[in-house]
Amino acid sequence: RRLPLDPSEEPGTRTVRGACFSRVRPQPLPAPRFVAVSAPALTLLGLDAQEVLQDPLASEYMSGSRVLPGSEPAAHCYCGHQFGQFAGQLGDGAACYLGEVLLVPDGQSEDLLRENPSGRWEIQLKGSGLTPYSRQADGRKVLRSSIREFLCSEAMFALGIPTTRAGTLVTSDLHVLRDVFYNGRPRRERCSVVLRIAPTFIRFGSFEIFKAEDEFTGRRGPSTGRTDILAQLLDYVIEMFYPEIQKKHSEREERNVAFFREVVVRTARLVADWQCVGFCHGVLNTDNMSILGLTLDYGPFGFMDRFDPDFVCNASDNTGRYSYQAQPAVCHWNLARLAESLDPELPVPRARAVLDEYESLYNSFYLANMRRKLGLLRREEPEDEGLVTELLRIMHNTGADFTNTFRCLSRVPCPAEGQEEGDVVESAVELLLEQCASLEELKAANKPTMDPRELAMVLSLAQSNPALFQLVADRKTVSRQLERLARLKELMETNEEELRVKQRDDWTRWVHQYRSRLAQECSCEGSDLQTMQEERLRVMESSNPRVVLRNYIAQNAIEAAEGGDFSEVQRVLKVLEKPYEAQPGLEQPSWMGPGGAEVQRQGV
Ligand code: AMP
Ligand code: MG
Ligand code: MG
Repeated sequence: RRLPLDPSEEPGTRTVRGACFSRVRPQPLPAPRFVAVSAPALTLLGLDAQEVLQDPLASEYMSGSRVLPGSEPAAHCYCGHQFGQFAGQLGDGAACYLGEVLLVPDGQSEDLLRENPSGRWEIQLKGSGLTPYSRQADGRKVLRSSIREFLCSEAMFALGIPTTRAGTLVTSDLHVLRDVFYNGRPRRERCSVVLRIAPTFIRFGSFEIFKAEDEFTGRRGPSTGRTDILAQLLDYVIEMFYPEIQKKHSEREERNVAFFREVVVRTARLVADWQCVGFCHGVLNTDNMSILGLTLDYGPFGFMDRFDPDFVCNASDNTGRYSYQAQPAVCHWNLARLAESLDPELPVPRARAVLDEYESLYNSFYLANMRRKLGLLRREEPEDEGLVTELLRIMHNTGADFTNTFRCLSRVPCPAEGQEEGDVVESAVELLLEQCASLEELKAANKPTMDPRELAMVLSLAQSNPALFQLVADRKTVSRQLERLARLKELMETNEEELRVKQRDDWTRWVHQYRSRLAQECSCEGSDLQTMQEERLRVMESSNPRVVLRNYIAQNAIEAAEGGDFSEVQRVLKVLEKPYEAQPGLEQPSWMGPGGAEVQRQGV
């Protein structure tokens, strides 16, 4: 039911009170056609990719031009904290729920049920047109953003990282203008639709529709005070997606605490996974946080090339709120917002106690993951954390490529008796140095990201009026800029040769440290060197991907597709489906980022 607009709301907003969904119809697209399909994702729905591609009506169904018989399409109502502020009602502005596909029990269903105990896959179109939640936007997605979401969803799955999936990608002859300027004019881009698949797309923000007035923004959730619906939504999520927890707890409060703890555990594990492949989500608002701990909403995400803890992949994130190194803490902050929205179902002191466990959970997931990446399998030593920190520090200082450097670590052999230490270490260091930046590249990487005039103004304010500076400046951002400036100054005073010597010294020291830690692994009881080395290599090769969706790889595929050639999207998808395997297409250095050619030549 269309309710009268609240005059305090921005124009175009439609408030949907007392409901979690609104019925909608996806809007048809002219000449829908497949850009690519993901065979493994389609099998979740019992569909065969070849059959789908050959069916003349399939692209109509996968674009929302036709609706499956019995489907009751809907848009989901949710709220969210965006960039630290409660934003009020958001909702599916461009996405549309089509229904759920029930798993048919067969030989594989046990594994699938472990992954998805609900036994159902929600299917959703992204980019299918206007909904009551579209605000001033058009509910459409363009080819560029759809390719990025499609490829990254499937790439993340293949990396073994929890994520929503993408089954198909359809484009069309409908164009929209987007404010990406090209030759001074807005670009006309093709409307495209991704078929998304997940057990559910319910997110933290789905629970924020019950939020009372926010003390900073004055906004409230559209269903404030409806604790009856909150209880229903919570029951639905726990019964359907956390059946073990439902079964185990007959007492409601205990059940809810156990549920919240599991969300905390999954979120901590997810963000640890991201950190370990150098993935940056870009928009970690609470409406993009899955209640199942899945990676959700691929917008301006990025995989790092050269390691930089301050890496920011979202151009509108000028304070670095969602930078790579901020992700673990931001997820904790988001979990605290979820806890607040679950009140009174989740008593505040109980939530606080669970939230206090987050940091150590995250650290243990992260460290366990890093140990596998370094091939440290037999023991856990207190020095391991320092070994990882020092590795990352050197990677940052030397501008090392994140993906390739970890891949190279399997080339550092365990110490063996009777072997010439010097040679082995030297050749490992040589290979690592190939992944590092040249002086010019390092200078470019350390340029302050703030506008120089703005930075100069802020700095002079810091001197002339420290009190005002405290008030107006984001001190974290400024101090980060100052660190960059200091590093840049250092680099200006050095030369290529000095830099190489310094880089070589740093890496040599670290490789020695790493090898003495590997020696401890060898000295474990019952392990001969060869078995240990084989196991170590096997684990490292399946924890350190050869290839990730680097930005320019996505960009190449996008440019080809915009020119009408979809084969590059399909080729990239195929390669990313097996990120840990050697593949014929990979000999092109273009897959490997800086230093890639050398990694490939050496057969790493
Ligand atoms: P995001 O930052 O992608 O999580 O999106 C924030 C909000 O904007 C969500 O409510 C989205 O549904 C909505 N939104 C994003 N893109 C569009 C679009 N093209 N049309 C309508 N709403 C959109
Ligand atoms: Mg979103
Ligand atoms: Mg989005």
